[in-house]
Amino acid sequence: MVFWEGYVSDEVMGIFAPIVIYWLYAGFYQLLPPLDEYRLHTRKEEEEKNLVPLSKVIKGVLLQQLVQAVVAHALFLLYAGKCFFMALSCVVTARYSSSHMDSGGCGSDVLVDSHSWRMLLIIHYYLFILALVSCKDKAAWTCNHKVAGSSLESSLFIPKYGMLTSSADESGTTIQPSIPIQIMQIIIGMIVMDTWQYFAHRYMHQNKFLYRHIHSQHHRLVVTYAIGALYNHPVEGLLLDTVGGAIAFLVSGMTARTSVIFFCFAVVKTVDDHCGLWLPGNIFHIFFQNNTAYHDIHHQLPGTKYNYSQPFFSIWDKLLGTHMPYTLVNRPEGGLEARLVKD
Ligand SMILES: [Zn+2]
Ligand SMILES: [Zn+2]
Repeated sequence: MVFWEGYVSDEVMGIFAPIVIYWLYAGFYQLLPPLDEYRLHTRKEEEEKNLVPLSKVIKGVLLQQLVQAVVAHALFLLYAGKCFFMALSCVVTARYSSSHMDSGGCGSDVLVDSHSWRMLLIIHYYLFILALVSCKDKAAWTCNHKVAGSSLESSLFIPKYGMLTSSADESGTTIQPSIPIQIMQIIIGMIVMDTWQYFAHRYMHQNKFLYRHIHSQHHRLVVTYAIGALYNHPVEGLLLDTVGGAIAFLVSGMTARTSVIFFCFAVVKTVDDHCGLWLPGNIFHIFFQNNTAYHDIHHQLPGTKYNYSQPFFSIWDKLLGTHMPYTLVNRPEGGLEARLVKD
């Protein structure tokens, strides 16, 4: 039971809640007093080094969010349409099951009818795979599971998949997995999203065309601040965040409801990584090596070829030799500095 149940679908919440959370969390940072003693860069540095004014950053973030919301909504409609394939798959299987039973089950008719049985099985697999790549409706999975009949059902892995993710009750309402399974799915989603973003982000730095025309927009903020966390070219927003999020969602097998938590968490983490403040007691700084200071290194000019990992862990940087450690030192004029530690 969630507070939006009965008002907004989980899918729509998955699109809009992260946008609302972004502005609430980034707005909270924006409204804080200057807090010079906790800043990773002085305000003077921010004025001198950043290549874009705040008003343009806000417009850029809003544009990116608009594009992402429209694309995500279109994808959602498309996948809802693709669920037609799953429904059709159910019908084909149900037809087969009933005719199979009418003909006496496992008698000689089955042997006579083995060709059409194989054809139906192929059609079933084809429709199933089509639905698998495009449909996350767990009610449809269960529909398939229910009508398939034990002989066909046992030859598929649907029930096992259903146990790992979720199923639907009699009315077709998705039954949410247990909390431990949801946590496991979120952790899988974090690893998948990190993997996608590491390689896509790194490639955007290595490919001069992509860097110059797309990713350099994000690096116009050498001194980061919370509202600028998603100041990206819209194409980057789609490639890294929308596609990365969709893959993490599909691979982890999480429900749309779990994805609301996952996407909101990812957006809060991204905002925090760009907040530019090293506030005491920040839980992201305690639990994640990849945090505000870690990402600040990437935004500094000497660090742009390091610390590509985002938004959760630093594992890919460490595995592939792009990890740049840092030390936090006190600035003589006040505040802190994340300083690269080169070998
Ligand atoms: Zn970058
Ligand atoms: Zn950044």
